[in-house]
Order: sequence, then structure tokens, then C-alpha cells
Amino acid sequence: MIERPCPGGGKPWTVDIAGKPICPRCRRALSTVAGKGKTVQNTPRVPAHERPGRGQRRAPTR
Ligand SMILES: [Zn+2]
Repeated sequence: MIERPCPGGGKPWTVDIAGKPICPRCRRALSTVAGKGKTVQNTPRVPAHERPGRGQRRAPTR
């Protein structure tokens, strides 16, 4: 059960500048969100996962 789901769950993956799949909302890597050994082929959509902690805002862009 996920109390505070990330709104990125259920959406297709996006990629970072390195071409790695990441959650479109929290921008965490596929391996972080879906677990080790998962690939875009295995997991075509972002699985439900918790959103980042409350105090944590999205990483500053620079
Ligand atoms: Zn997310």
C-alpha cells in the first residue's frame, strides 16, 4: 500500500539527458522506482511508487 503515490505512476517513462528512463514527475531512475533488473521492456509504464519525502522538493535545475 502506498500512502503518498507519486503522480508519475502509470505514465510512460521519460528519459534524462543521459537517455536513461526516469519517472516523469519525480525524475528518479527506473531502477530506483521500479527496482533492480527492471527495464522499459519489462515495465512499459511507471509503476506506482511513493513520492519523494515531504521536505524534499524537486531537485533544483541548473
Ligand atoms: Zn515518480
